[in-house]
Amino acid sequence: MSGAIVMISGPTIKAGGLSDCFMGEVVRLGASQLVGEVIRLERGIATIQVYENTTGLKVGEEVSQTGKLFSVELGPGLLGRIYDGIQRPLGELAEKWGDLIERGAEADGLSKKTLWRFTPVVKPGDKIEYGFTLGTVQESKNILHKIMTPQGVTGEVSHVEEGEFPVDHTVVTLTDGAKLDMRQSWNIRNPRPRAKRLSLTVPALTGQRVIDTLFPIAEGGVAIIPGGFGSGKTMLEQTIAKFALADVVVYIGCGERGNEMADTLEELASLKDPRTGRPLMERTALIANTSNMPVAAREASIYTGVTIAEYYRDMGYNVVVLADSTSRWAEALREISSRLEEIPGEEGYPPYLASRLGAFYERAGRVSIAGREEETGSITIIGAVSPPGGDFSEPVTQSSLRMASTFWGLDSELAYQRHFPAINWHSSYSLTYRSLLKWYEDNVSQDWDETVKKTGQILQREEELYEIVQVIGADALEEKERTSLLAAQLIREGFLRQSAVHPTDSHCSIKRQEKILTLILDYIAAVERAVEQGAQVDDIIESPVTERILRIKEISEEHIEAEIRDVTAVYTASLAELIES
Ligand code: ADP
Ligand code: MG
Repeated sequence: MSGAIVMISGPTIKAGGLSDCFMGEVVRLGASQLVGEVIRLERGIATIQVYENTTGLKVGEEVSQTGKLFSVELGPGLLGRIYDGIQRPLGELAEKWGDLIERGAEADGLSKKTLWRFTPVVKPGDKIEYGFTLGTVQESKNILHKIMTPQGVTGEVSHVEEGEFPVDHTVVTLTDGAKLDMRQSWNIRNPRPRAKRLSLTVPALTGQRVIDTLFPIAEGGVAIIPGGFGSGKTMLEQTIAKFALADVVVYIGCGERGNEMADTLEELASLKDPRTGRPLMERTALIANTSNMPVAAREASIYTGVTIAEYYRDMGYNVVVLADSTSRWAEALREISSRLEEIPGEEGYPPYLASRLGAFYERAGRVSIAGREEETGSITIIGAVSPPGGDFSEPVTQSSLRMASTFWGLDSELAYQRHFPAINWHSSYSLTYRSLLKWYEDNVSQDWDETVKKTGQILQREEELYEIVQVIGADALEEKERTSLLAAQLIREGFLRQSAVHPTDSHCSIKRQEKILTLILDYIAAVERAVEQGAQVDDIIESPVTERILRIKEISEEHIEAEIRDVTAVYTASLAELIES
């Protein structure tokens, strides 16, 4: 069935003559068969959001209906791929048509050329329903891909195949004749069901000390990273993509610069997972909708990403979704809304900005899986926000804040001082810290809370002293207060500051974090005692052992204990000497 275009406004099109057209239906427009989605229906006129550049499209051109909802294709082979916002593989399209995607270009979300070894789990006679595992495919060394029963299918298995097949080969047949292959499709705007939401008690470790120790995020939690231009949002998202202890990572590059995205891709492609030694791309799916690509596809990209994440969650994996940047996504929403001539809300964003953002973040969580309730999986979402001028009072930051239990506020001043990650330790917070504490006590240290509190107090004390210094000058401080400043410096530089590029410093296991922090706190305590007994703070600051402690973070996992033992002996002796003199 088809109709015709009656109005064109950028990516927004109105068409008439579409019969039985429904909300969310995918349509094709014009001679080049551009992809669009019906987003409004009134009095026989359909408003269509077009996911491609509409230049050259003419009034009167044909609009054909597909009868399908806007969906992504799910199955083996999603990982290691790079997609645009509507799941067209960029790698493959680039091969076919050069660098830019041809408009209307069709390429399958999943390659039909690749063969996968399907190992059945079900046998003839088994009853199946949504979520039941039909069989498995080893997608990569560490990812066993579960082929699950799609929505709307129930029945009894009559025939099963085993062997190497492309994704569109029938592997399971039901007694009613229904044929199932290794794919399923899912409407991106509709969350995949879950049996139950579970409480968040395990941290999603990122390998970043300031995060894992001070402002942790739970597996299944939501964190936002607001920060002005150049404060390190992209770098932090990428670092987490590389080092997070996740099974699967979905990275959504949303409206950011193309060259930055290309760098990300190149880096990820060349890196290995430090934990498993496997190429990082084996656990990563990338959605790239850079600033030069159509805004409507950018609007879709976060849903495409989170749908892929839900699919792997439903296999029982812990998935981390990184979105950079949700502000660029919101701008796409704003542009589309203004084309629809909707009444604008705050700063021109549509009034439903907060609910749309909410609908995205609500897809995070730790769940028991629909159809297989004894199994669990999680989605953790980390969204970057780029408020114009770094002003956190604007609508996107404020709406995101309501959804996030963890807040990593980036600070331009810290970035300017090249203190990275530039997470401000005064404004940032983790509301899940308490519910994660037991995990830290059981898995890291019984004294964890004490250790974190002490660290916080040292940083707090520096802030108070800083105000005094502003008034009376640093020279007027007592030795005890100068010791407090040294303590804070040790925490800031020896612990919180972390290089994203140093081979051993760039990622730090939680055990190593605890060792480094404990050493620093022990040293601080020893310094305080030494100062009480007459040692000079200046001498301690200049002591080579202080420098050595600041660099403990660069010592690898296997050597750190020996180094800590050694440096402890050295500082004990050197502080004793300083007391003597
Ligand atoms: P944003 O995305 O917030 O605009 P970027 O992530 O692109 O900022 O960071 C801007 C620059 O800051 C980077 O090019 C890099 O030089 C520096 N930078 C950011 N984070 C780090 C880090 N963790 N380690 C070292 N340099 C960093
Ligand atoms: Mg950026």
